[in-house]
Amino acid sequence: MPIAQHFYSQPDEVELVKVKLFKQVAYYCLCLHLLFIFAFWYSHVYILAIANIASVVAWATGIYLLNRGHSHLALRVFCIEVTAHSVLVCATLGMDYGFQYYLWTIACMLLLDLQLKLRLAITLSLSLIVLFAVLFELYDTVNTTFAFRDYARPIHFINVFICGLPMIYVIGQIRESTFIQRRQLATLAARDPLTNLFNRRYAKELILRAHASCAHNEQPLCVVMADLDHFKQINDQLGHDMGDEVLQTVSDILHKHVTDQDIAVRWGGEEFLLVLVDCNLDQAVHRLETLRQTLEMQRFNGNELTATMSFGVALWHTALPFSVALQLADDALYTSKAQGRNRVTAAQSS
Ligand code: GH3
Ligand code: MG
Ligand code: MG
Repeated sequence: MPIAQHFYSQPDEVELVKVKLFKQVAYYCLCLHLLFIFAFWYSHVYILAIANIASVVAWATGIYLLNRGHSHLALRVFCIEVTAHSVLVCATLGMDYGFQYYLWTIACMLLLDLQLKLRLAITLSLSLIVLFAVLFELYDTVNTTFAFRDYARPIHFINVFICGLPMIYVIGQIRESTFIQRRQLATLAARDPLTNLFNRRYAKELILRAHASCAHNEQPLCVVMADLDHFKQINDQLGHDMGDEVLQTVSDILHKHVTDQDIAVRWGGEEFLLVLVDCNLDQAVHRLETLRQTLEMQRFNGNELTATMSFGVALWHTALPFSVALQLADDALYTSKAQGRNRVTAAQSS
C-alpha cells in the first residue's frame, strides 16, 4: 500500500473504533433507560417515567444515526439527552441519588466530537461541569415522595458506577487504538512499504548503532551492496506489477537470510544494502553465495521467470567511516556486474 494512502486511512480507523464504542455505550444507555421507565413508574414518579420514554427514543435515534454514519449528530443527541435528563431528575428527586454525575460522563464524551473545534468542545465540557455545581445549589433540598427514598445511598453508588464505567471503557479503548496507531506510524517511518525492509533514512541510525556495538565488542562486520540484474527488462517485458512482485519476493528471501542482529535495507529502487553483524569477510561471502543460489533457483510468474542478483561485500574496519565501507562494497558490486552479473565479489581489504 503506498505510504500516502496508508496515512489517510488512519482517521477512518479511529472513527470506526469511536463509532463502535458509541454504539456499545448507546445500547447500554438504552437498556438502562428502559429499566428506569419501570422503576419510576413503580415509584409513581410519572414525570420521570415519561422522561425515560423520551430518553429511550433519543438513544434509539442516536443508534439509528450511528448506523447511517452520522456519528457527530448521534453524539450531539446523546449529549442533549443526558444533560436534559440529569437536570430533570435532579430537579425532581434532588441530589442524593447521584444522577448529576452523568454530566461528567457526557462532558468527557463531548470531547470525542471531532467536528467541534477543540476550544468549543472544551468550553461546552466545562459548562457541563459548571452545571453540575449549579445543580447542587439549586436542588440540594428537594422534597420528594420517591418510593426508593431509603435506598438513596445505594442508588447514588450505582449511578456513580454506571457513569464511571463508560468513561473508563472509552478512555481504555482510545488508549489501545493510540498504541496501535503509534506502532503503525513507527513501522511507516522505519519500513519501505513495498518490501517491508528498513528504508534508507531509518537504517542509517541502525547501521551506526550496529557499528558502535561491533567496535565495542571487537566483532567484525561487513557491508553488502546487492542489485537485481537486468531488472529493467523484467519491468519492460512483464510490467511494473510483475517487477514489484519480484522485488517483494526477493526482499522476503533477503530477510530470511539475515539474522536478527543484521540489517537489511531497501537502499534504492532494486538496490539493497545488508549489514552483517559479527561476521568476517569469508563468512559473509559464504552466506551471500548461499543467498545468491537461493535467488537463482526462485521462480516467478508461474515458473516462467527467474531473477538473479549481483553482490559486492566489504569488511567494515571499525576505524573507518560508513561511507568508505559503502564505497568499497559498491565498487565490488560494480566488479560483479562487469564480470557478468549473478556473482559475489569481495572487496580487497586495503
Ligand atoms: P543492471 O543489471 O545493470 O543493474 O540493470 P538493471 O536493469 O537492473 O538496472 P537499471 O538501473 O537500468 O534499471 C533499474 C530499474 O528498476 C529501473 C526502474 O524502473 C526499476 N525500478 C526501480 N524501483 C522500482 C520499483 O519499486 N518497482 C518496479 N517494478 N521497478 C522499479
Ligand atoms: Mg539492477
Ligand atoms: Mg541499480
